[in-house]
Amino acid sequence: MVFSSQKCLNKIIHSVLNFRTFATMLVRSVQLRKGKEQSLLRNHPWVFSGAIYTDVSQFDDGDVVEIEDFKGRFLALGHFQHATISVRVLTFEREEIDQTFFDKVIRNAVQLRLNLGLLNKKNNIFRVCHGEGDNLPGLIVDFYNGVAVIQCHSIGMYRSLDFIAQALKLAFGDKLIAIYSKSSDTIPERIDAKDEYLLGSCEIPHLALENGVNYKIDWITGQKTGFFIDQRENRALLGKYAFGKKVLNTFCYSGGFSLQALNQNAHLVHSLDSSKKAIELTESNVEINSFSGNHASIVADAMEYMKDLKEDYDIIILDPPAFAKHRDKRHQAIQGYKRLNAHAIRQIKPGGLIFTFSCSQVVDKYLFTNTIIAAAIESGRNVRILEQLHQPADHPINAFHPEGEYLKGLVIQVI
Ligand code: SAH
Repeated sequence: MVFSSQKCLNKIIHSVLNFRTFATMLVRSVQLRKGKEQSLLRNHPWVFSGAIYTDVSQFDDGDVVEIEDFKGRFLALGHFQHATISVRVLTFEREEIDQTFFDKVIRNAVQLRLNLGLLNKKNNIFRVCHGEGDNLPGLIVDFYNGVAVIQCHSIGMYRSLDFIAQALKLAFGDKLIAIYSKSSDTIPERIDAKDEYLLGSCEIPHLALENGVNYKIDWITGQKTGFFIDQRENRALLGKYAFGKKVLNTFCYSGGFSLQALNQNAHLVHSLDSSKKAIELTESNVEINSFSGNHASIVADAMEYMKDLKEDYDIIILDPPAFAKHRDKRHQAIQGYKRLNAHAIRQIKPGGLIFTFSCSQVVDKYLFTNTIIAAAIESGRNVRILEQLHQPADHPINAFHPEGEYLKGLVIQVI
């Protein structure tokens, strides 16, 4: 009865208020079952549905809720959602989740990136907010030369978009020319999410710089927010090895690795992707940087292509999409990584380098390394590990949320 009148009240308020800013108005309590407070006491920012004692059936997706232990003691505040992860913690303090809250957390996030020196004459692409790593679970914001692209992974963040946009404006000031919100693919369909500009607008594709190289960014039709920012440092490292080399960049998307190699005077770069659109994007990026003379592209399935390489390469990049999105696909994923890497190890030139990656969160760095070692054993060649790679500092890992570590890679030399 209480819940149904509450729901009725919600509906009335919904109709008169903007749905998004409404998120902070009602703070309801979610009580946990006995013993289920332990992970929150260790500052882990998720509450799973099985941990909840309260009947939440009448709660609205995106509500800000107060989390209490079984004795009613305050633990945290977070965004509620009808999902396996039922609450994502925004703060372990008692505070209002309002404009001031978002201003503070987003200012800290922006400040970190500016302190890291990521906005300079040669670079204006970086991640501004990285979910749990910035104490903003469910929120991704990427920055492309003056344009912030927001991707919400929770309904609570989607309902907070006005706060987020306002906070970004405040933190960036005149460095920001537009804000685009792109969440229709990343939050449940029951929310009719609109992809739209929340500030200004911008012609697509938009030119932005990573380590001195121009890239065309298209957040509207491109994958994710338009670019795979998490490989910036690893692409720069490839640049250091690439002078005079013949390089094969598989799973190239918009040519991120290819262009950094070409910028450091690689002799020849072949870019491969199964998506024709990705290859067109790569070619157009190669062209605007005037590298066409040293580049060729291939539309093909990487696994098939790698079985029988037509050329001798000095460097091969293997950066596939996540082979396993869930734990139950992990074994299959490992077999895929092993096969792909074994093909590369078997055929690369003696002394050649392989930059190999996995962005599957369920495959940790130890399992990944062991998989590459297994591939080396299978190929019968001698392999050594030169570099161990990971996600960059603008994709920080919350120490209490190890699930946030997802990108791992190795540079191996095949002797
Ligand atoms: N290395 C890229 C990001 C890779 S994203 C960068 O630096 O930006 C993964 C890419 O793999 C996507 O472009 C996708 O189209 C491509 N892909 C997916 N499956 C593939 C397959 N079987 N063979 C080749 N490319 C594939």
